[in-house]
Amino acid sequence: MNTPAPYYHAVGKEVEVFGHAYQNKIPFLLKGPTGTGKSRFIEYMAHQLDRTLVTISCHEETSSTDLIGRFIIKGAETVWIDGPLTRAVKEGSIIYLDEIAEARPDIIVSIHSLTDHRRELFIDKLGETIKAHPDFMLVASFNPGYQRGFKELKPSTRQRFIAMSFNYPEESIETTILEAESNVDPADAKKLVQIGNKIRNLTELGLSETVSTRLLVDAAKLIHSGLPKRLSVKVSVIEPLTDDPDVLQALGDLSDLMI
Ligand code: ADP
Repeated sequence: MNTPAPYYHAVGKEVEVFGHAYQNKIPFLLKGPTGTGKSRFIEYMAHQLDRTLVTISCHEETSSTDLIGRFIIKGAETVWIDGPLTRAVKEGSIIYLDEIAEARPDIIVSIHSLTDHRRELFIDKLGETIKAHPDFMLVASFNPGYQRGFKELKPSTRQRFIAMSFNYPEESIETTILEAESNVDPADAKKLVQIGNKIRNLTELGLSETVSTRLLVDAAKLIHSGLPKRLSVKVSVIEPLTDDPDVLQALGDLSDLMI
């Protein structure tokens, strides 16, 4: 492939594990909060393995029809159009179902036969079963933090995947990522990561999601492009986290002290 490899800094054994999962075509589940590099990791692995990556961002309206395909009316005819999952199964791509627990339950049913020894997709509207291309692989992500109640992934579904947890990288790695992604000054990258870690440790604030690497990268980009540092942190790290005026004030004061 001629496109440059996406930048990904490994944080553990994920590259090695994914390589073996791909060799064996075992479905792979990435668990972890938003902005911890899950999508970037899959882009990187698809590039390394020279496979096309098809990403579906799942939401509560995503149904198996969206993935498998539908009939559309074309003039006087009804024509079948393959959905992205069907195309990936036929062509041997890697499909990435981002936030799979968000999607409608019929998606889980439709991937069952793809995630076991059968490796086949049943298209009920056509009454057809397709065998997956040998290169096809299914990858999914989910965020255990905010998936509650019925949005939890059922154990019977989870057990169809091997799984790895993604989290915020340790300080030195996260600093390196910020530098690489934004070209920000190393001292500023370090300070941003320290602010991020400080806020992550403030569990008493009860934030539903805390500072992701993505937010820190955004702050680093703004600083690098010349926006004042404190303002950069305010708009990219603090404001996205909360609307509570007291918490905003407290986090603002904290970060102003640090940068
Ligand atoms: P997720 O899919 O977990 O929500 P992303 O893969 O979109 O997160 O990561 C968000 C951003 O964080 C990326 O665009 C990238 O800038 C940065 N990032 C996070 N972790 C890494 C990593 N290990 N290597 C390179 N970039 C990373």
